[in-house]
Amino acid sequence: MAGALLPPLTDPYHRKITYLRVSVTDRCDFRCVYCMSEDMNFLPRGEILSLEELDRVCGVFIASGVRKLRLTGGEPLVRRNVMTLIRKLGQYRADGRLDDLTLTTNGGRLVKYADALYACGLRRINVSLDTLDAAQFRMLTRWGSLDQVLAGIMAARAAGLQIKINCVALKGVNDGEFDRLVAWCGDKGFDLVFIEVMSMGAMANGARVDQYLPLSTVRERLARRWTLSETDYRTSGPARYWVVGETGCRVGFIAPTTENFCKSCTRVRLTCTGLLYTCLGHEDAVDLRTPLRASEANHRLIEAIAQAISRKSKGHDFVAGRDDVVPASPRHMNVTGG
Ligand code: SAM
Ligand code: SF4
Repeated sequence: MAGALLPPLTDPYHRKITYLRVSVTDRCDFRCVYCMSEDMNFLPRGEILSLEELDRVCGVFIASGVRKLRLTGGEPLVRRNVMTLIRKLGQYRADGRLDDLTLTTNGGRLVKYADALYACGLRRINVSLDTLDAAQFRMLTRWGSLDQVLAGIMAARAAGLQIKINCVALKGVNDGEFDRLVAWCGDKGFDLVFIEVMSMGAMANGARVDQYLPLSTVRERLARRWTLSETDYRTSGPARYWVVGETGCRVGFIAPTTENFCKSCTRVRLTCTGLLYTCLGHEDAVDLRTPLRASEANHRLIEAIAQAISRKSKGHDFVAGRDDVVPASPRHMNVTGG
């Protein structure tokens, strides 16, 4: 399959699908309060795509014009032998069939994996870090250690990886930390992206309704302390960026609930069970695991992918920023992949 070229994937709104996010596991060594409950039930292993199956699906997408691939989860680096998959995907980058291979990680295992990731062809990664306060970090991640993550980030930088920090903005929780994060990222040379908390998964305490903080407010508050100049810098992700005059680094904002980024969406997501979601905000998904397992040939898989893309919706349905913010998606982020 690897060498064959397939027709490019174009949705009904003429958007070309060039970016695939893949959740390689639903499991994680942290239990972030906005992402998981503490007593998560994980999926039976048989439901999770094997590393070989993940490689096969990625190969079909790459043959169909996907140029950027992001691995996520759960925590991608907790998946056993994940480096064998990353090494294979790195080959696509090495021979020019992928422009970008990257990863979103909680950083907890970067000390161990940073050099290997660089050797596989990764050049940049996103690391989630919501606070620089150790006690708050422990409260937010439940099981994480700030020291370990900071050591991981430094190991990644030393390995040559460019780092972008992702921070979920939570009202009354980490909003006192934002200036410190901007200063710290500026000092280290990292871009910082704020993410608006999304209502994903049925959480017992409904915490995210109270903690919802519009990023327009975050930006306004940052602008009191920092000189922010809007830039037209874009990645293939949905963030909009401002340059911080004092540090020269960028701050980005991903606000799916308040700003429409659907028009230019080129992304699709594959869950670790092989469901292909063509929009984070829609429940409509196509099962790729059945065609994958039904035959060693790829024609049924290719058909299923084409069918999913032909149903990609025009935009998402998130409703937020009000007291009655509703869970727009009953899926947990760790299954879909953030
Ligand atoms: N474990 C990795 C990590 O934390 O970076 C990758 C998976 S995680 C689901 C991907 C991103 O989604 C993280 O930056 C995380 O902060 C974000 N995230 C998780 N739950 C979220 C939610 N309810 N709203 C907004 N972002 C969320
Ligand atoms: Fe794990 Fe990432 Fe979810 Fe935190 S946000 S629980 S690190 S998957």
